[in-house]
Order: sequence, then structure tokens, then C-alpha cells
Amino acid sequence: ADERFDAIVVGAGPAGNSAAYTLAKGGLNVLQIERGEYSGAKNVQGAILYADALEKVIPDFREDAPLERHIIEQRIWMMDDTSHTGMHYRSDDFNEEKPNRYTIIRSQFDRWFNSRVRDAGATVLTETTVTELLRDSKGRVIGVLTDRQGGPILANVVVLAEGVNGLVGQRAGLREELKPKAVALAVKEMHFLPQETVESRFNISGDSGVVIEAMGTITKGMTGTGFIYTNRESIAIGIGCIVEDLARSGMTPYALLDAFKRHPSVAPLIAGSEVKEYAAHLIPEGGFNAMPEILGDGWVVVGDAAHLVNAVHREGSNLAMASGRIAAETIVWLKRRREDTTAENLAEYRRRLEDSFVLKDLRKYKKIPDLLHNNPQLLDLYPRVLSKAAQTWFRVDGVEKKAKEAEIVKSLRRERGLGGLIGDAMKFARAWR
Ligand code: FAD
Repeated sequence: ADERFDAIVVGAGPAGNSAAYTLAKGGLNVLQIERGEYSGAKNVQGAILYADALEKVIPDFREDAPLERHIIEQRIWMMDDTSHTGMHYRSDDFNEEKPNRYTIIRSQFDRWFNSRVRDAGATVLTETTVTELLRDSKGRVIGVLTDRQGGPILANVVVLAEGVNGLVGQRAGLREELKPKAVALAVKEMHFLPQETVESRFNISGDSGVVIEAMGTITKGMTGTGFIYTNRESIAIGIGCIVEDLARSGMTPYALLDAFKRHPSVAPLIAGSEVKEYAAHLIPEGGFNAMPEILGDGWVVVGDAAHLVNAVHREGSNLAMASGRIAAETIVWLKRRREDTTAENLAEYRRRLEDSFVLKDLRKYKKIPDLLHNNPQLLDLYPRVLSKAAQTWFRVDGVEKKAKEAEIVKSLRRERGLGGLIGDAMKFARAWR
């Protein structure tokens, strides 16, 4: 307990691993503490890995990281109860030497990432939970207490990468409790199928893959989305909704997932599969306005714990890795300048984050969470109307096309009214800017 570390990193998800790796590579004496049996043991994600964020930490990660499929096709589905209207983008350009997005299995991926952290020279303590932050008489964070015997562990700075619940930060009064409006509860299953079956059902081969993001009546008027991702020999399928909406509706995420799996557009994709894993996890989807304080004297917060998720683009792990790296680079920079880890100096982390895509994107979409929450028709009425319009349009039944057009316009006006339509368009445009 006499040793004083340059930095302690709490958590070994993408944010913590990225921070610990960067700190260790920067020559700092780092201790990383993870409560799981190993990094990734209980971590849940869809999961899409965005290569760019990892490449900035470990440029050669493709050599040995456990990757499932690189994504060549993105499908976006607007669903009603019996149909989906899809926007599919597929390109051979995604079959590039260094693919841009991959599906991964988090337990394997996190474990690999953490082995790289160890190789870089960090000390990693697993099966250990940080219970409290230690402060000096002036309130500055100087270390942590854990559930293991051995007393306090001291450090110049503590990097909180503890994920969405952020209990350590909360207990220390650095942040408020999570608001039910600002978090989604997502559930996910892994459906195993032979590799050839996955490939023929999704029209893919080799290690290319498809991802589907889905919205519409599958969330029963609540704010949320569903997803279907192809792994090598399995399909990950999940759905999530804002916790406040779930509480109000009394519906369980599992019932939603069950209905999603039974949807006629989805059922054939997973038919005959063996379900091997069921998991539930929170996602901080409140956006920029829900962010807690991210730094102070002797501490910084990164990843989900800092509420850094771009729900519109389904990005989280990349913001986690980017923020972990940027926080760590700031700490290394301060150390080289022999400057102290005071709040004033650590504010450089915030400045760098503001200059990066992380806070630029969160700022851009800061009005979207409230927009979706206050306008449930956006995720319910429009997919239904779109589906009806598509059916009217594509069904050949002797009705003249002009009459079909009129029917589509009439149905839009009947469902929402001209004022409602214009209002929604304006609200959407204002929030999107
Ligand atoms: P986490 O991954 O949650 O890691 C936190 C770590 O800290 C854990 O290992 C935990 O055990 C540990 N820990 C917590 N408290 C303590 C403590 N007191 N002491 C010691 N250790 C502690 N993002 C994407 O980019 N792409 C996707 O496809 C995607 N899909 C998702 C699908 C689902 C169903 C969910 C739930 C999330 C998804 N996300 C996705 C979001 C993504 O998973 C998160 O943004 C990302 O995991 C955040 O990383 P993190 O390191 O901040 O937190």
C-alpha cells in the first residue's frame, strides 16, 4: 500500500482499456481495477466495433483482435406490425484492406484488449471492485478503496471508466443518480446457426457481414430501437427502450424482444437457431444535456460513465475509446510538463474532447433525445404510414395510379393532419441541425 501510482483506472471496458493502454504506453505507472473475473466477463454490447477509434489507440489491432465480420451492408428498417420499409446500403468499397466497422463479441474482444493493456505494462487487478474514492482534506481525489483487504491505493489521478451506472462517482458525490428519462434498457440474445446459414440468409460470404437497425411499432410507441447483427456463426438480436417509457407502459424489454423475434420480417432470419446467451444492460442515451461533470481535482470520467453515447448513430464504444484515449493523453502530457493533476490542468481533457467528434456530435444532437421522447408519433405513426403508402404503391390491383397517390396523401393527412406534418418536419429540422 506504500506504492503511489501515477494513475488508477476504474473499469476495463473499451473506455478503461483505451485509457490504461495509452497511459502505460506513455510511460506512466498505471493500475487498472476491474470487478469482473476478467475484462469483458459481463460486458454487453450489440456489438459493432468502429475501427477508427481503436486504430488511434492500437494501429495494428487487426493482426490479432478477435473480430467477427466486417460490415459491408447497412439496413435501416421502419417497421409496422406486419411489414418493414427498408433503406439498404451495400458497397463493395467496404471490402477494403482496413475495413471500417466490424461485429465483435465483447467478452472476447475486451479480454484481448485487456491483454494488450497488460503487455503495455499496466498492472491489472481483476475480481476487485472499487468501493470508494479517497480524498484529502481539500477534497482532492488521491486514490481508491476496494473490496479487497490491503487498505487504500493512492494515485495522482483516478480515471473513472466504470460504465453507465457510475456508482463510484455517484457515491463520491461527483455526479447525480441516473435519470430514467436519460437511460435505455436494452436486452440482447445470441442466436447460433451454422456459418453457411448465416451467410445465405444475409447474402454474404467470407468474413463480410450485415447489420440491421430497426425502429417503428416494435417499441410500441416508446422511444427505442431494435438491432440484428451478423457474427460469424451467430446472430445478435436485441431491442431497447428508454427506462421511463418502459416504467410507464409496464411492458418488459423481454416481451418486446419476443415480439420482435416473431415479426414476419425477422423470424425467418433466426429460424432454427440455438439461443445461447441472454443479457440486459443500460445505455446512457440522454445525450449532451445529460452529461455529468467529467473532471475535477485528481479525477476524470470517460466513456459511458460520462454519458458519452450518440444514440442517433448507435455509437458508444467508439466514444468510450476516444474519450479514454484523450483523457490519458492529457494526463501523460501533464506528467511530461511536470504539472499537477488539478481540475484547472485537467480541464485540458474537456477542451480536447470539445475539439473531437465526441462532443461535437453530442452537441449536434443535443435536442434529439427530448424530441423523440416528447413526440412518440415519430417512431410509431410515421413507420406505419410509410408502410401503408408502400403497400398502396406496390400493390397492382387495377386502381389507377393517380387514385393511389391521392390515397397516400389522404392517409397522411388523416393520421397526422397538415399542421401536424409541418410541425413535425420543423421540429425535426430544428433538432437535427
Ligand atoms: P463498459 O463497457 O460498461 O465497461 C465498464 C467496466 O467497468 C466493466 O468492465 C465493469 O465491470 C467495470 N466496473 C464498473 N464498476 C466498477 C467498480 N466499481 N470497480 C471495478 N470495476 C468496475 N456501442 C457501440 O459502439 N456499438 C454497438 O453496436 C453498441 N451496441 C450496444 C448494444 C447494447 C445492447 C448495449 C447495452 C450497448 C451497446 N453499445 C454499443 C454501447 C457500448 O456498449 C458502450 O458505450 C460501451 O461499452 C461503453 O464502454 P465503457 O468502457 O465506458 O463501459
